[in-house]
Amino acid sequence: MAAAEAVHATYPPRLTAEQEQFLVSTIKDWTIQNGLTVRPPATFVSQDAVSKGVLGTNAPVTLFPSPFPRSSFEEARAVQKIYNKLYADITRDEKWLGEIIQELLDVDDFVSGLWKVHDAVKKEGYVQDLSLGLFRSDYMEHTPAGSENPSLKQVEFNTISSSFGGLSSRVAALHSELLSFPPGQPINYPSHPLLDGRVPPKNTAVETLSAGLAAAHSAYGPSKSSPSLPLCIIFVVQEGERNIFDQLALSSRLSNFHKIPVFRLNTTDILDLTSIPGSNSSRPLIYTPPHAPSTSFEATTVYLRGFYAPTDYTSERDWAARLQLERSAAIKCPTVLNQLSGCKKIQQVLADPNREDHLSRFLSPGDSDTADKLRRTFAPQYDLHENGRGRELALNVETAASHVLKPQREGGGNNIYKTAIPGFLRSIPEKDWKSWVLMELIQPPSEAKNVALRSDGAVISGNVVSELGIFGTILWSSDGRILHNEEGGWLMRTKAKESDEGGVAAGFSSLDSVILY
Ligand code: ADP
Ligand code: MG
Ligand code: MG
Repeated sequence: MAAAEAVHATYPPRLTAEQEQFLVSTIKDWTIQNGLTVRPPATFVSQDAVSKGVLGTNAPVTLFPSPFPRSSFEEARAVQKIYNKLYADITRDEKWLGEIIQELLDVDDFVSGLWKVHDAVKKEGYVQDLSLGLFRSDYMEHTPAGSENPSLKQVEFNTISSSFGGLSSRVAALHSELLSFPPGQPINYPSHPLLDGRVPPKNTAVETLSAGLAAAHSAYGPSKSSPSLPLCIIFVVQEGERNIFDQLALSSRLSNFHKIPVFRLNTTDILDLTSIPGSNSSRPLIYTPPHAPSTSFEATTVYLRGFYAPTDYTSERDWAARLQLERSAAIKCPTVLNQLSGCKKIQQVLADPNREDHLSRFLSPGDSDTADKLRRTFAPQYDLHENGRGRELALNVETAASHVLKPQREGGGNNIYKTAIPGFLRSIPEKDWKSWVLMELIQPPSEAKNVALRSDGAVISGNVVSELGIFGTILWSSDGRILHNEEGGWLMRTKAKESDEGGVAAGFSSLDSVILY
């Protein structure tokens, strides 16, 4: 039996009905007490309660931390700052990025809408040299049949709205607390060798992500308004966001520890509550809080937790709002170009074994060590060009069965899986195929099991698949200066094995933590 299978064979320890009930009720109380919470799904409570915004419920969480190989965990951490710099450099290389994005413009309205925003600001001239990235690189443990050692493979790299730093730190704290119950108290977990004396590693996601935002805030420099206005950070958010407590973990840290005022601004309110004075060529972004209209602030940094999906742009007004942010002097996290650098198409091109020049372009000449570290994490990916390998694999049901088809979208729920791929492709015009990339499915340990408590109180158990995310932040200037480059904090998400998709917010998976072995 391969090592990973041996670990998972007896894990997690079996719970009696009474033990499970006790553990679940302890966790329910702990999540509310400690803000490991989400707004309840609208289907689960009355519309009245939703509109009053008075309810919170536990985020979906696993009852047990999931075992994960220490070597893979360390490998993912070790490569994060390299990935941060890679995506900063891609974003700075407008020519290279533009040539790849170009191919998507006539088939993907969303990508083309974003590119138009960049184009408009470029014509006028950007007034802000600095960009901030709060990234999350996602991985699975790859354990194909017959392999002794698992390897670490990247699922995707996120450059916009990389979420769950706030809540994932709390899951690590929850599992640590359950594992560290004082002796003599009723135990929360039955004994198991993997749990004996171990706790999840420290999760510094909140500190790391907030420090990235704080670094941008201070790099912005003094007020550009006349007369000077107090400075602030703005979180641009989606109206009715259910994952608000994840975001509040970061804004609270910014206010309480870094002493920086933070405001939440709905995408739909940007044009009403912000302005760029026409008379000021440095284009400061002025924010006027609706509850205190006599005090205006100047935004140093705009952190997007919205505007990543086409559904965030319901009219030209929303595009105008994105343009207002992009052309302003505020440091954007991310800029439009940095958002586009996270397209799945870019990840496919970087991983193309026949075009090693693409990745090498961003590395120092002769630095094969760095190139190897990155390439080791790539799973095979293909475009769907005529007569190409990707098209051949995608159109045959047998080969499609070990692949996933991805569009240029974020947030989960957008992919086509396995045997559905050929039929799907044949159902859309062939000219649109170039907006999709085909990726080989990573094969996580088949025996992994866990138990999850969903937000509606249901408890489900069975075979699971886990995905590890590593957070990183980087602040860079258009001439290539790096002012801040940090790795720190992680996210473990676990989903039922039968589910192809993986997003927590999209309702497919639960927040988890890790026990390293
Ligand atoms: P998104 O940006 O929408 O999150 P992802 O690339 O992360 O897109 O895909 C969504 C989910 O699909 C992942 O969380 C994972 O569960 C599954 N998935 C994506 N790519 C792979 C892959 N190569 N192997 C296995 N599962 C994958
Ligand atoms: Mg993503
Ligand atoms: Mg993802």
